[in-house]
Amino acid sequence: MQFIPALLPSLIEAIADIIEKNAEEVTALDQAIGDGDHVINLQRGIQALVAQRDGLAKLDWTAAWQKIGMTLMSTVGGASGSLFGTLFVAMSKAAQDQALDLPRFAQVFTQGVEAVKLRGKADVGEKTMLDVLVPVAAYLREAAGNAVAAADVLTGVDCVAVAGMESTRDMLATKGRASFLEERSRGHIDAGAKTTQLMICAIVSVLSTTPA
Ligand code: ADP
Ligand code: MG
Repeated sequence: MQFIPALLPSLIEAIADIIEKNAEEVTALDQAIGDGDHVINLQRGIQALVAQRDGLAKLDWTAAWQKIGMTLMSTVGGASGSLFGTLFVAMSKAAQDQALDLPRFAQVFTQGVEAVKLRGKADVGEKTMLDVLVPVAAYLREAAGNAVAAADVLTGVDCVAVAGMESTRDMLATKGRASFLEERSRGHIDAGAKTTQLMICAIVSVLSTTPA
């Protein structure tokens, strides 16, 4: 499996599909402990990326992630827009045109996630998208260190993302709108953790079916 920007059109389409299929469920989650606009916010960004997909496929990762990040920042809105945007802009800075094998990608993704933490002044355990992003970054570093086979890495990322999303259910929200509900925020999965997990699993699914 080669991880190259030429895959971006398929990745973006798979992400658009999975968010569309789960839109009602995620909106219900955001209505329970947020203001219900998370999917609409995100879909605005995804539609902008769908329109840019062929141009993105011709760029290198540094340029592609920069463009994706800026597009998300300017179209998504909400708390999640600047956070998802920050993830990609920071990955662009970290990538610096280097070939992306697993150890290098693990570092680049980790730097993206660290930037999201700084931007949101948040960390794992606060019932946000970081409860998916942080464990996935940790898993990628561990898999890279142990030279795990590509197919197993993809399965592992999928499992870790789902477990991270599920972990938000019983957490107390201490960041974002859900934190206003205090104890009443418990018992609901965080919408941003859910969409982050869905998008990661959509990426895994495309990469799993991409020939070597
Ligand atoms: P808003 O809350 O402004 O309406 P969205 O509904 O688009 O924005 O996004 C909400 C999601 O953003 C939450 O479900 C959570 O995952 C994420 N989020 C909110 N605040 C933070 C933060 N400080 N750090 C990380 N993620 C956050
Ligand atoms: Mg919202």
